[in-house]
Amino acid sequence: MLKKTEEFLIKNYNISERTFEIYRQALSDTEAQFKEYDEIREFNQLKVLKAFQLEKISDSHFTNTTGYGLDDLGRDSLDKVYANIFNTEAGLVRPHFVSGTHAIGCAIAGNVMPGDKILCVSGLPYDTLLGVLGLSEKKNAGSLDQYGIKTDIVDLDNKGKFQFDKIQEALRNDPSIRLIHIQRSTGYASRKSFLVSEIAEVIRHIREIREDVIIFVDNCYGEFIEPVEPTEYGADIMAGSLMKNIGGGIAPGGGYIVGKRQYVDAAANRMTVPGVGGEYGATYGLMRSLYQGLFSAPHVAIEAVKTAIFCARVMEIAGFKVFPSSTDKRTDIIQAIEFGDAKKLINFCSGIQAGSPIDAFAVCEPWAMPGYDSEIVMAAGSFISGSTIELSADGPVREPYIAYIQGGLNFDHGKIGILIGLSKVLEVNK
Ligand SMILES: *Cc1c(COP(=O)(O)O)cnc(C)c1O
Repeated sequence: MLKKTEEFLIKNYNISERTFEIYRQALSDTEAQFKEYDEIREFNQLKVLKAFQLEKISDSHFTNTTGYGLDDLGRDSLDKVYANIFNTEAGLVRPHFVSGTHAIGCAIAGNVMPGDKILCVSGLPYDTLLGVLGLSEKKNAGSLDQYGIKTDIVDLDNKGKFQFDKIQEALRNDPSIRLIHIQRSTGYASRKSFLVSEIAEVIRHIREIREDVIIFVDNCYGEFIEPVEPTEYGADIMAGSLMKNIGGGIAPGGGYIVGKRQYVDAAANRMTVPGVGGEYGATYGLMRSLYQGLFSAPHVAIEAVKTAIFCARVMEIAGFKVFPSSTDKRTDIIQAIEFGDAKKLINFCSGIQAGSPIDAFAVCEPWAMPGYDSEIVMAAGSFISGSTIELSADGPVREPYIAYIQGGLNFDHGKIGILIGLSKVLEVNK
């Protein structure tokens, strides 16, 4: 660190010597690991580049379509670029998805019928999916359970791993299971995320019992963190958010689905209406940012991983429980820190907020966010509202007071945000 940087931080952010000590130590402890992620980044960048070239992307893909958006060249080609990157038959990349939840909801709802059952094999799904499935306390009109589509959950074991025997038993005993839900990233649960190799293993166990069941993967936060993706190991359909890794911090919003043609088409019918599917949908001049975001995504995703690893190390040194640990192999950009104390959780988020380029002056207060069952505290000083590929931290204000931190468009900013967060946490101890 330049002497100038240190002076700047002390002058502008009131960082203590103890906080600096932890910062320096964490940097020197983590640096060696970054090479491995740089290599993954390089490979994924090549994969993305080649997909653009194969599809002959040019300026004409960035045009502004309006109205029905029939034959939107940019949109239809981006579907193919995604399909190529994920090694699938089809893609559906749309700014019309209001979020990842919407894309996931369409991927699931489009592929089940009344009487079918959904089996979640990575435990309870991410909070916002509970409303879709009909598992939340508050009942939402039109949730899948109201259509007679029930969901069963197979919990993870006490080490946070898949229970292969229980999953196989459920599949043997219940022929109504039509769709398997697997969530790669941790969500608001205190478990590790699943490596693509672990997802491949659970898929093998599922296929031993049932060839025909549809395997869905929620890939949120996982894109471009490993050199492979779950669709390369037998996932039939997968979805995620453009406000996370794959939007590259540039896409203004949206979601994506990739997978087998038949399942992606069925999801498109749920996104719009049967008969219209993915053929309508003007893109209003947004395509350049979706392409440019995708092109930047392998780089940005690894900047976010570096931020997460650094954050883990900083918090380990400061004495907090973190998962994954600073040396665990990563498959997503999420870092969880257990604060065990509401004030520390809120202070940490306030620090991240204070270090943001946008809304740094805003105060972090817990609020009842739609789609979530408990109050959430959230730091989000982002260019794209609510974007979590940008440095952000959030957590439900409930025991054991875990903050989930993710994103960072560049590691330089990521480091500073965490430094300020740490400084505010250490203040609580004074
Ligand atoms: C973020 C997330 C979602 C939902 O995505 P949104 O864009 O926030 O709707 C779903 N599943 C997981 C695992 C997530 O991390």
